[in-house]
Amino acid sequence: MPKRKQIPKKIRTKILLWCSRHCCLCGKQCSTNIEIHHIDKNHNNNDIDNLIPLCFDCHSEIERYNSSHPKGNNYRTEEIKSRREQIYDLHTLKYIRDVSIKISNMVEGMELKRPLGDVSCTVQSHSKDIPIRLILKVEPFLNGQPVENNIHKLYLGEIRWNLNPSTIVCGHFEFPINESAQPFLYQIVINYSIIDCFEREHKMLPFSYVWDDPQKGDWWFHPTDELLKKLRTSPTFFQK
Ligand SMILES: [Zn+2]
Repeated sequence: MPKRKQIPKKIRTKILLWCSRHCCLCGKQCSTNIEIHHIDKNHNNNDIDNLIPLCFDCHSEIERYNSSHPKGNNYRTEEIKSRREQIYDLHTLKYIRDVSIKISNMVEGMELKRPLGDVSCTVQSHSKDIPIRLILKVEPFLNGQPVENNIHKLYLGEIRWNLNPSTIVCGHFEFPINESAQPFLYQIVINYSIIDCFEREHKMLPFSYVWDDPQKGDWWFHPTDELLKKLRTSPTFFQK
């Protein structure tokens, strides 16, 4: 029989820290009485998303379940994974801090407008104590359609930002603007995650900034990632 692949030590350590050695189904503290279950039952698939730390009881219950003679309701994969995320959150949310991300046409803190196609992005960590990492991904759209761009990879989720407590980064990125576009409705969708000191990624909800006047005005906050094709749905709605 082919030998089972061992779970890499680094992954094992991470997930045991994330659950603080609590069973990810019943939630009990296990200390050394903890095992790592492969959710898809393939013992060579050591992808971190396929693993779940369990106490002896929950592990044997899950392994014993016979789907041809079902008794009770076994856990479905999505439920097992969501339950695991709940337990990881319970033990790791204390290691993340707020980050604010603001888009503007103005240079942060100055009455100075940036040239067209150059957008300010101010990122601030509100942590007073611990360092955190950030993955930031911005996506530009014009009238609800994706726009080709040359945005730096720092803003495309390809590089992690290291944010020490109280850090403010006043950055900017190139943004393709087509002034003759009619209608003119630019939208930047912002996706971001915060990574804690134990390497767990906490995904935040996406939101966006919108700009609809090529001559003046500034980007304004829009609390969803829903794409906008036009701003004013009727002549009177949304009028300034
Ligand atoms: Zn358990």
